Amino acid sequence: MNKLLKIALSTVAVSALLASPAVAKKIKWKLAMTWPSTLTPLASPPIKLAELIKKMSDGEFIIKVEGKEKHKAALGILDMVKGGQYQMGHSGSYYWKGKDINTVWFTTVPFGMTPSEQYAWFYYGNGKKYMKEVYDKFGVYNYPGGNTGNQMGGWFKKEIKSVEDLKGLKMRIPGLAGEVMAKVGVNVTNIPAGELYTALDRGTIDALEWVGPGMDIKMGFNKVAKYYYTGWHEPASEMQFMINKKAFDKLPPKYQTMLETAMKAVSMDMYIENFAASADAWAKMKKDYPGIQVKTFPKPVMEALKKASDEVYEGYAAKNPKFKEILADYKAYMKKGRDWSMMSQYYYLQTSKELESK
Ligand code: CA
Repeated sequence: MNKLLKIALSTVAVSALLASPAVAKKIKWKLAMTWPSTLTPLASPPIKLAELIKKMSDGEFIIKVEGKEKHKAALGILDMVKGGQYQMGHSGSYYWKGKDINTVWFTTVPFGMTPSEQYAWFYYGNGKKYMKEVYDKFGVYNYPGGNTGNQMGGWFKKEIKSVEDLKGLKMRIPGLAGEVMAKVGVNVTNIPAGELYTALDRGTIDALEWVGPGMDIKMGFNKVAKYYYTGWHEPASEMQFMINKKAFDKLPPKYQTMLETAMKAVSMDMYIENFAASADAWAKMKKDYPGIQVKTFPKPVMEALKKASDEVYEGYAAKNPKFKEILADYKAYMKKGRDWSMMSQYYYLQTSKELESK
């Protein structure tokens, strides 16, 4: 028998031995998500993942998905996956900015990349490498978990005509964008999701941002605010899957591959699902509430927001060498990606719109 064949046969024998009793046993995992089970499309990726894995494994690998209504710890997901109470989690990486500011890179950042640019960075640039570096210390693997697409800048009760109009304005806007808004004089507040509609309706706040038409319509903001501003602050919000490292490393390789493939598929599906939901919702809003005005902030306001964003980035980069490193890589990749986005998508959209309006 030649040497290669011998090696091949012994490898088969060893993997057969390894595979026999362990794989025959059912694997049962639990996944906790930040969202209530009904909050689609955010809740869609984990629910669809569990269905796919069950089918692909002939019912041998089961993932039980638990929403916020069950575990009551929307912002405890990372700790619960790290601690092993759950093998998996589904959340948003930027919720952990208090633990490590570098988690923000894997959701979205103000004036950052579009979804296609960011996916290219995640999968074909250094995005995944940085995810591993940042999440290693938490004992979890991090994966992209579905994108909302470019988010809207939010609902405003009054028109914003100048930077002055932002001063003292009470607005719900979380994350880095909140830090940016605070720099230009906005009074940034944090209000639980369930109270947002009433707060905007009663004037407790003057403005808020949520996601985009598909998700905003369910909150009813279009009924109580007239100005719908285009986005700048969350151009590609990516959710995240987290997996406890020990649990993942113990999985048979075929299930590891199955999981990684299915996570990518359901993440892409959320992006598509939310695009469709937003197109439908906007068509309905436009018809039912013709008074809604879609606005873009005037140029001086956008310039002030860009300047404040750069200052926020520089502030973190000065304190945190890893932030500085990722910022440089992210910016370089965005520049390269943006050139192509402009040549391919922007000019196409612009010219076809001009033709339509003739
Ligand atoms: Ca948002």
